[in-house]
Amino acid sequence: MLPAKEESIDWDRFRFPHRQETDKFRFMIRVAVVVPERAGDRALDYQIPEEFVSRVSPGARVRVPIRSRSVVGTVVDVREEEEGRSLRALLDVIGETPLIRPKLLKLAHWISEYYCCPIEASMACVLPQAVRSGDVSAKVVRHLSLARKLTDAELEDLTKRAPRQAEVIDCLLEQSSPIPIAEVLNQSGASEAIIRTMVKNKLLEIHSLPVWRDPYGSESFLPTTDIPLNPTQQDALVAVEEAMTSPASALPILIHGVTGSGKTEVYLQAIRKALGKGKTALVLVPEISLTPQTVERFKARFADRQGEVAVLHSHLSQGERRDEWHKIHSGQASIVIGARSAVFAPLDNLGVIIVDEEHETSYKQEEAPRYHARDLAVLRAKNEPCAIVLGSATPSLESWHNAETGKYRLVRMPLRVDDRKMPVLRILDLRRVGAGGDSILAPALTLAIESRISKGEQSILFLNRRGFSTSLQCNACGAVCQCPNCSVSLTYHRDAGSLACHICGHSQKAPKKCPSCADPGIRFSGTGTQKVEDAVKRLFPKARIARMDADSMTKKNAYRETLGAFRQGEIDILIGTQMIAKGLDFPNVTLVGIVNADLGLHVPDFRAGERTFQLLTQVAGRAGRGDVEGEVFVQTYTPFSPSIQFARQHDFEGFAEQELEFRSSFGFPPYRRMVMITIRSQSVERAEFCALTISRKLKVDLPEGAVCGESAPAPLAKAKTYHRFQVALRGPSGRALSRHVRKIMDALPMPEDVFVAVDVDPVGLL
Ligand code: ADP
Ligand code: ZN
Repeated sequence: MLPAKEESIDWDRFRFPHRQETDKFRFMIRVAVVVPERAGDRALDYQIPEEFVSRVSPGARVRVPIRSRSVVGTVVDVREEEEGRSLRALLDVIGETPLIRPKLLKLAHWISEYYCCPIEASMACVLPQAVRSGDVSAKVVRHLSLARKLTDAELEDLTKRAPRQAEVIDCLLEQSSPIPIAEVLNQSGASEAIIRTMVKNKLLEIHSLPVWRDPYGSESFLPTTDIPLNPTQQDALVAVEEAMTSPASALPILIHGVTGSGKTEVYLQAIRKALGKGKTALVLVPEISLTPQTVERFKARFADRQGEVAVLHSHLSQGERRDEWHKIHSGQASIVIGARSAVFAPLDNLGVIIVDEEHETSYKQEEAPRYHARDLAVLRAKNEPCAIVLGSATPSLESWHNAETGKYRLVRMPLRVDDRKMPVLRILDLRRVGAGGDSILAPALTLAIESRISKGEQSILFLNRRGFSTSLQCNACGAVCQCPNCSVSLTYHRDAGSLACHICGHSQKAPKKCPSCADPGIRFSGTGTQKVEDAVKRLFPKARIARMDADSMTKKNAYRETLGAFRQGEIDILIGTQMIAKGLDFPNVTLVGIVNADLGLHVPDFRAGERTFQLLTQVAGRAGRGDVEGEVFVQTYTPFSPSIQFARQHDFEGFAEQELEFRSSFGFPPYRRMVMITIRSQSVERAEFCALTISRKLKVDLPEGAVCGESAPAPLAKAKTYHRFQVALRGPSGRALSRHVRKIMDALPMPEDVFVAVDVDPVGLL
């Protein structure tokens, strides 16, 4: 969510003063550095020796002294020198141009102010470790070029005398720039020895040149072409084009398009338009949907511009990350696709930013700086300026509200392409059909799966929970096996015969009798993915079944291989967690079963209903992407909850209306902004005491209209041996709240064993 205007930041402060003025004033710089022997980064001040003045500007990389050594850091600020401070001088300026563009530096400053984190932390986002440290270097490969021009006579002579050498020359004749040796060897069939001889005879020259590491270098992509758009898609594309034409005055565009309405096709063609104007494009997708399939779709469409598509995700090696970054920074990449952190991609001359699945919670970083990539994308688009498109089948209520109040331009894409029908949602009331216990699937769902198998169609069973059963509970005394480090019950994993904690990873052997009263009647309650898999295997002994969850996908490439096999039709039933809910497109899937829709409804979070609606809609969207109509079965104990009923009608707008009414009457986002402060310590007393102090201090001088709640134990009261308490603030302005919190917290020293996390616009409240 964005502040209405940028009231409090004086951007001129970050600009280097006019050159002539530097005679009159003396300046100092603030430099973000990584101090090797300390965990984390720091910002330190230095003075600028005369000879460097003209080369120092925000974003420049400089070498500075720290104690007896020197390190490389990034200038984050230039300001007038304060009287009476004796500062050490910077040692050197590295490179002629700053690595950080002023606009991204501005974004980093905005992040520290708004999300209440030190500037070093936000700089670490803007300039990734692999680039900042300078430790990862370019990959250098030996290249060949002709040392001189040969006369025709010489060439003729060589062809007779040494035909292999002549072929090497042939290979290089038409080239304007040096060619990697491996390529020359390949093309000419010459050996290394021949090359060596030719170098010795001064026919060839060797150059050591940097090359980009390309994570997709070994893959080739079959080019695809633009699909003729239907009228709805055409309207959406026109809206984006208009925004690209006058980005400074255009509103952010929110595309509400049902799954399969052809949003991605619109994105692809919008990018093509941006490139046509000589501009660049940035596409953000949730990490979980940054699948090979997604990457392939973009790489294949822009196959004519191979090498200009950069992909940023968490599985890149440090070297690949460095190279992708430099490829973007140097202007070689014109399209960037990436997850959350790609919002900082150093693209210049942006034409459009696209945020797909904008409602996804994974856009929010859960550690400092706790930024929201979608919100930063909107801010970045405003600063560039460029067009911005947010797309989703289930927009976040924040974005929806912005569209309703005229801050965003809404584009509706209510139909699937080619008149494919939306899948039919059938609600199975578990109270009536009596699933649970041993029969996990209601008879109607079992029958439906059976008919798919006989027709050679595929089914997906979705359960938002790993493990075999949720918890181990004693029949006699009711005791539940708890994690010793966290306030959650342990999950039974049958393969390992163990109980595991999904918060801290603690694992122990499953007991044979109740640890509390020694009764042997301890039993498993709840249903996990493993248990579903078991039941399905029993019900359909001949079917080919695979399970996809964090436990079964630990092996490298397991995800890719299982999805590949499923796509090839080698699997009849795929059972899985969130992993399979998003963005996958399988034409042969005609049935999706949601084993228990209630799991997300009973969590203590005001967004529980919204999340459930989103999940049902997204999961249902996996069915019927091909020519055959899809069917979705939703098993639930609460068939009349609004999330389930509206999802069944495919009625996002109806759901939003009712949900917003609830948010408004209780003063929740998007009507109020929120800051959540979590205080944790291994000492419960100290955590509680600090939480109390913080809430008491925050209550003084609150911004207008803001309220600060009492400190209370967090819903997840203990995690990883830390006791957790929370203080929540709500108010009309996020900026005002975060400024208030920063002011109070900066002046409030905390004991060493108490940790405080400030989360502005939190998305998870546990
Ligand atoms: P979304 O991103 O909204 O889920 P996609 O862009 O992935 O939708 O489109 C769904 C499917 O329909 C894809 O296979 C896509 O190639 C196809 N498609 C998209 N637009 C058209 C069109 N105008 N005509 C025919 N097929 C289309
Ligand atoms: Zn635990």
